[in-house]
Amino acid sequence: MTLPEFLRDFARGQAKRLYTSREFEFPDIRQTPAPLWELVDLRRYASMSLQFSRGCPYDCDFCNITAMLGHRPRVKTTAQVITELDILHRLGWRGAVFFVDDNFIGNKHFLKTELLPALISWQNKTGHRTPFFTEASINLADDEELMRLMVEAGFNQVFIGIETPEEESLAECNKRQNQERNLVEDVKRIQRTGLEVQAGFIVGFDNDKPTIFERQMEFIQKSALSRPWLVCYRPSPVPSSTSG
Ligand code: SF4
Repeated sequence: MTLPEFLRDFARGQAKRLYTSREFEFPDIRQTPAPLWELVDLRRYASMSLQFSRGCPYDCDFCNITAMLGHRPRVKTTAQVITELDILHRLGWRGAVFFVDDNFIGNKHFLKTELLPALISWQNKTGHRTPFFTEASINLADDEELMRLMVEAGFNQVFIGIETPEEESLAECNKRQNQERNLVEDVKRIQRTGLEVQAGFIVGFDNDKPTIFERQMEFIQKSALSRPWLVCYRPSPVPSSTSG
C-alpha cells in the first residue's frame, strides 16, 4: 500500500525516508496481480505457492500473523485463484501447489460455496489431479463437509498448530481453539477423510511440567502424525511466526 506513494515521490525526486500504512489498514488482496511465473525456472522447485487468504480470526499470543495481517480473513476472488493455477498449468507445472495461507479455513463459507467447488471443476477440466496442501486450525476437524470438499478439490496434506497437549499451556498462549478438545481424536478424524496431518508443537511454556517431552511424544505416537515440527518457546517482545 505504501509502494505507489513511494514511487510517486521517487519519480519527483522527493522520496521520504519512511513510509508506513495506517494501523489496522490492510491491502485489498483482490487487487493483487497474478505472479509472473514465466520468470521462474519451475524445474528448480519442489512445489509452487499460491496465497488465497490473509489474516486469521484467532489470537495465539506467540504468533505474528495477526499483528501483521489482521484478524479479519481477506480472500482473493475465485477467478484470481483459478487464473494463477491456469498460468502454472499452462507453463507445464504438474507438481504440488502449497496454499500458503495463515489459516486456510478463516472463511469457511466462501470456501464451501465458492472456492472449493471451483477447484473441483478446475481439476476436472485439466484432466490432471494437482495435489494441494495448506495450513489450518484444528476446528477443521469439526466440519465434515469442509474436509470432504477439500479432499475432493485435491488437498492431501494439512499443517495444524497443535502446540501442546497441556491445557494450562494452551491457556497461557491463548490457543483457545485447541482448548478442551480431544486433540488426538481431532487429528484422527481429519486423517480419516484423506488428509495427511502435519503438526507444530511448542515446548517451554511456564506451565509445562518436567514431563512435557514424554507427553508430546506420547501425543505424536498416538495421533500417528507424519511430520511433527517442534519449536522451543522463549517469551520475547517480538512474537514468532507460525500458522494454523
Ligand atoms: S498460530 Fe495459527 S491459529 Fe493462531 S493466530 Fe497464528 S495463524 Fe491464527
